[in-house]
Amino acid sequence: MNIEITEQLKSIVDSSRILADEPMRAHTTFRTGGPADLFIMLKSIKEATETVRLLLAHDIDFTVIGNGSNLLVSDSGYRGCILCMGMDDIKTEGARITAGAGAMLSRIAGTACENSLTGLEFASGIPGSVGGAIVMNAGAYGGEIKDVASSVTLLDIMTGEVLTRSAEEMEFGYRTSIVKQYPYIVLEACFELSAGDKAEIKEKMDDLARRRREKQPLEYPSAGSTFKRPEGYFAGKLIEDAGLKGFSAGGASVSEKHCGFVINKGDATSSDIISVIRTVRSKVAEKFGVTLEPEVVMLGEDMQL
Ligand SMILES: Cc1cc2nc3c(=O)[nH]c(=O)nc-3n(C[C@H](O)[C@H](O)[C@H](O)COP(=O)(O)OP(=O)(O)OC[C@H]3O[C@@H](n4cnc5c(N)ncnc54)[C@H](O)[C@@H]3O)c2cc1C
Repeated sequence: MNIEITEQLKSIVDSSRILADEPMRAHTTFRTGGPADLFIMLKSIKEATETVRLLLAHDIDFTVIGNGSNLLVSDSGYRGCILCMGMDDIKTEGARITAGAGAMLSRIAGTACENSLTGLEFASGIPGSVGGAIVMNAGAYGGEIKDVASSVTLLDIMTGEVLTRSAEEMEFGYRTSIVKQYPYIVLEACFELSAGDKAEIKEKMDDLARRRREKQPLEYPSAGSTFKRPEGYFAGKLIEDAGLKGFSAGGASVSEKHCGFVINKGDATSSDIISVIRTVRSKVAEKFGVTLEPEVVMLGEDMQL
């Protein structure tokens, strides 16, 4: 990137938050991934809109990320600019919580509990940001983001315009939303909750956290469930029944605790992880005729399945 553009970026974002050749393993829960040419941590809607407009004007490729908890980045990294949404303000007004795209779901769920608001208990253990959760329509234990999101503030990358979309207009579906089809960036979201009992809300969150610890290999880096749930099946059961429990390539492995998780056992590369994913897909398709679709988002070169 030429010096002139870098100087313009520095007039928008503090230079301490503009990093060159930043290893993506530091920004993904898989703890893998090579360097991004440029990594920018954005702290406000103004910074996000101005930075995006600048990158668009200079035709520089970019990708937006949140907490990197559903992301597998190539070992060769990302040629372009990673924009990490770090705006994490949380405001409460009656039963409504408004949160910046970078706010963590666990913090918002904690705020809801503090204010005796029910509806976000399901999200308390999902290690993602508001932005990632809106894009993915994150869900767990019978709840989904679409049940509580009332409106979303977006930046339209095509027009550079900031707009608000209602929940209906977000076209939420299983692990998808309109942001998967249209180049929007999530800037902020509003959640409409209901009055509840603080002790009961806390108890439910504690119970869900316990169930996660019991069932999920939280002691290893991962991106949660690697595959979407195929209609009529459970990915983890299909993988186990295909004899792939513990199947490994390099440092990556199908978790023995929960076969739906591919885990990094310590020194995995993204290429080890993709290799496990490819084998799992082909073996499950061969044995059961079911094609597993990854829930995890792949970024960079050599990441085709
Ligand atoms: C241990 C573990 C357990 C998990 N359990 C669950 C679970 O129970 N349920 C569940 O649904 N998920 C689960 N996940 C997956 C993950 O936490 C969710 O998908 C989460 O919503 C991703 O949010 P993120 O901020 O980390 O997104 P990222 O991984 O950073 O990004 C995911 C996708 O969203 C895009 N994106 C992110 N932010 C924005 C934005 N502001 N604007 C536009 N695009 C954006 C990225 O480009 C990417 O395509 C789990 C992950 C782990 C590691």
